[in-house]
Amino acid sequence: MVEEAWTRVKRRLRAELGEDVFMSWLARLELEDVAESCARLSVPTRFLKSWIEAHYLERVVTTFRSESNSVASVAIVVRSVMRDTGAKAGDAARRATSLKGNVLQQPAIQERSATSSPQPAARAEAEIASAPLDTRLTFESFVVGRSNALAHAAAERIARHDGSALYNPLYIQAGVGLGKTHLMHAIGNEARGAGKRVIYLTADRFMYGFVASLKAQTSHAFKERLRGIDLLVIDDVQFIQGRTIQQEFGHTLNALIDSGRQVVVAADRPPAELDSLDERVRSRLGGGLVVEISTLDETLRAGILEQRVAAVKATHAGFDVSPAVVTYVARAIATNGRDLEGAVNRLLAHATLTSSVITLETAELAIRDLVRSREPKRVRIEDIQKLVASRYNVSRSDILSERRTAAVVKPRQIAMYLSKVLTLRSLPEIGRRFGGRDHTTVLHAVRKIEKALEGDTMLSEEVELLKRMLQE
Ligand code: ADP
Ligand code: MG
Repeated sequence: MVEEAWTRVKRRLRAELGEDVFMSWLARLELEDVAESCARLSVPTRFLKSWIEAHYLERVVTTFRSESNSVASVAIVVRSVMRDTGAKAGDAARRATSLKGNVLQQPAIQERSATSSPQPAARAEAEIASAPLDTRLTFESFVVGRSNALAHAAAERIARHDGSALYNPLYIQAGVGLGKTHLMHAIGNEARGAGKRVIYLTADRFMYGFVASLKAQTSHAFKERLRGIDLLVIDDVQFIQGRTIQQEFGHTLNALIDSGRQVVVAADRPPAELDSLDERVRSRLGGGLVVEISTLDETLRAGILEQRVAAVKATHAGFDVSPAVVTYVARAIATNGRDLEGAVNRLLAHATLTSSVITLETAELAIRDLVRSREPKRVRIEDIQKLVASRYNVSRSDILSERRTAAVVKPRQIAMYLSKVLTLRSLPEIGRRFGGRDHTTVLHAVRKIEKALEGDTMLSEEVELLKRMLQE
């Protein structure tokens, strides 16, 4: 079965490329179909498509080939907007034969073929069962500091509160690794401990559960079940997308909030910037209490480190980190909780391997890669010109030349723009490097692209892709 092969491919890619890479770029790949030995894999955005094609296509093809004889090549396509999610009751037969072009049908179909006696309702219930809560992510293990005090207080209040909802919804906004998921689990653990019916879902799980139940024609049961709970926690709502799904999400939200049940959500951006959701849903999400967790300051970082060290000590007697080392690491790693956790793991590995006390020097060595990988890479103008040229099928000398045909002007302007934003070179210097042009020409190009980026999403995805490729 090619579906099974695909599952193995994903598993291998995850193992071989690492969790981070996999989650960032490949997790959203879905198998559409296989026709004439070509497996069509879909992703939600053009950006992801170009990114995967530029970086991982070879890898995906080789892996797929080695897992399945019926696949010789792979094509990445952009999933169409979920045009006919509505798949009316009664066309199950059509669905069963035409999984082409609509990934939404896939979960349901796989589900069905996976079970011998179809019990749609029961299955759908299983789909929306809460994701497991990590019992280590509690309020006790959450370190409070200036940047997260408000979020923590609101979360704790809600988790311990009885009666109708307080701030509804509670919306926690923060960048990656700043503790959103930790707080979501803490709320869930606490409320469950107090006997409340809690469902914790990630956006993916919400979408998957909804789609599966829709396909099994039990979306009613799905909604009902969600409405029969005390607390709904949804993590990473910025990923909820698709017209029908977000409408449904909106209905669910309204139903829960109107009946006084507590909803808590986390996202990496403010409600107004949830581009994949429509205005009404956004305003409903922003209509309760919105709290932001801002970057962790040094004291808080040190606190989190101490907490992690203490947790590790419980299982690794003899492991210890001096206050001086904690201070050093808290200073060196200014990014987020995930990297702090990574640092403690490295210190532990170091201590175990060398069975020696961690000094400042060994600490520096142990976390070196974490610190270094966070420094943005120096980008050279020459590399920008080369990459942009190849991307637009012109030569680097075309870009440096006097030619003014549209096919050359646009890439030239993009390259100038990128040189301005990715390097520290001055406008006159950039002009010199672009065939001895005047700085006003460079300025004109930069302004022009900036302006174009505002209205042109295709261009901005393209430029974003180029940026990432250059900085990788
Ligand atoms: P997010 O979901 O916002 O990306 P996480 O909740 O996954 O971030 O946090 C990343 C890591 O940092 C987790 O291991 C988490 O336990 C830890 N962490 C973040 N903030 C805190 C905090 N205030 N106290 C303790 N650990 C924290
Ligand atoms: Mg998270």
